[in-house]
Amino acid sequence: AKGAGGNQYQFFSETLNMKAQERAAIERALREALEKEQISVHYQPQIQLKTGRVVAMEALARWYDENLGAVAPARFIPVAEQTGLIRELGAWVLKTACAQCKQWHLNGHPIAISVNVSIKQVMQEDFSEMVVETLLETGLEPRFLDLELTESMLMDNAAESVALLRMFKSLGVKISIDDFGTGYSSLSYMKNFSVDRIKIDQSFVRDITIREDAAGIVKAIVAIGHSMGVTVIAEGVESKEEEAKLRACHCDEVQGYLYARPMPAAEAEAYLRATDRS
Ligand code: C2E
Ligand code: CA
Ligand code: CA
Ligand code: CA
Repeated sequence: AKGAGGNQYQFFSETLNMKAQERAAIERALREALEKEQISVHYQPQIQLKTGRVVAMEALARWYDENLGAVAPARFIPVAEQTGLIRELGAWVLKTACAQCKQWHLNGHPIAISVNVSIKQVMQEDFSEMVVETLLETGLEPRFLDLELTESMLMDNAAESVALLRMFKSLGVKISIDDFGTGYSSLSYMKNFSVDRIKIDQSFVRDITIREDAAGIVKAIVAIGHSMGVTVIAEGVESKEEEAKLRACHCDEVQGYLYARPMPAAEAEAYLRATDRS
């Protein structure tokens, strides 16, 4: 038994070690990537179901490293959060996305921009100043900026979150609750938080054509959201069948591979031009 335990310990410690090493490697490379501006932002359209119009683009961070290849946000965002690099990365993504959105306005596409923010970012003392400064610097009107915060991060920091969301409201910035339905809240908190939009998590969208109960949940979320004056968007929409179900649930907006993958800015603008014409 002792031997087995020893092996197991060794196995775990090696796994942990590898993770720590990988994390350190990612941290080092990420720091360098930020300095060398090797991070980019891709944009994915958010579409109003009723009209088919693109109402916003979601900004998603992308990182291509010569040695590591394409590093997924799911790998580098947590590292950025643990190391404090999220501050710099987040500020950079926000500025890039707001400047791009302003440019689209100047080019005749008055859409909004959705930017993901993590808890480590919003809890920074000077986060709101940074947002205000970015808006002033880029000339983007606050109502065109939508910050996506996850449901779980709001629930874990309920007291601070209420104050924070009030502050955003006073700035005129919009708030979306990302990954909605995956946290433990949920709907009862919504009225205290005064959010503008909820994003139904893609796990519900995945099940909507397969399971009656998933469709029921989506329908209920939409109904309650609407009763509170909240816009409801579904993410991860991949098929016409899913779209039809979401339409039947009276969902307001959709986003997903069915319409477009996240794309570089130029491609996203071409998409805007093409959909404006049709
Ligand atoms: P998220 O905010 O929930 O973003 C949705 C994710 O689903 C994105 O993955 C997007 O590319 C992907 N997606 C979009 N449509 C579909 C679809 O139809 N099917 C499927 N299967 N997936 C779809 P991505 O870009 O890898 O980002 C992963 C997560 O990383 C994001 O989840 C977000 O939490 C985080 N993230 C990305 N960029 C940033 C950023 O700039 N700042 C922060 N704080 N987090 C970010
Ligand atoms: Ca998001
Ligand atoms: Ca999400
Ligand atoms: Ca997510």
